[in-house]
Amino acid sequence: MNFKFVYKICTKSEWQETKKKGLLTGSKKDLEDGYIHLSADNQVAGTLKKFYQNQKDLILLKIDTLKLDHLIWEQASDGNMFPHLYSSLDISNVIEELEIEEEYEKTNNYCEECKKEDESVFQNLILSSFKICNSCKTAKTIFPL
Ligand SMILES: [Zn+2]
Repeated sequence: MNFKFVYKICTKSEWQETKKKGLLTGSKKDLEDGYIHLSADNQVAGTLKKFYQNQKDLILLKIDTLKLDHLIWEQASDGNMFPHLYSSLDISNVIEELEIEEEYEKTNNYCEECKKEDESVFQNLILSSFKICNSCKTAKTIFPL
């Protein structure tokens, strides 16, 4: 897990609104819960699957955590630690916006190296644009080609 960056999934229209204001205040659920739900790099795929299934026009925001004063990592009901932001997010902390294509996940779970299907392939594709599973990624990091 990389603690330097966290990710926020939102719709394109939400992101347009956010850019106008310069502040991300969060979704309806965020406002209800009192913090903005974010994801670590290895949680993006799971969050997409759980909360955004079949939703179109999604954007993934890559956020630099360095200047976030109110970012707290808290345990969710599944036992995993999730980043929660207890303030609105100034968009100057967003360093990258990535489009999440429709049907992206279903067609992109096959690793180009070992040709196996694995959830981590989709995740690595969004985050690093390598269509590769975690075990092949680890092998490559240790033995760079
Ligand atoms: Zn592989």
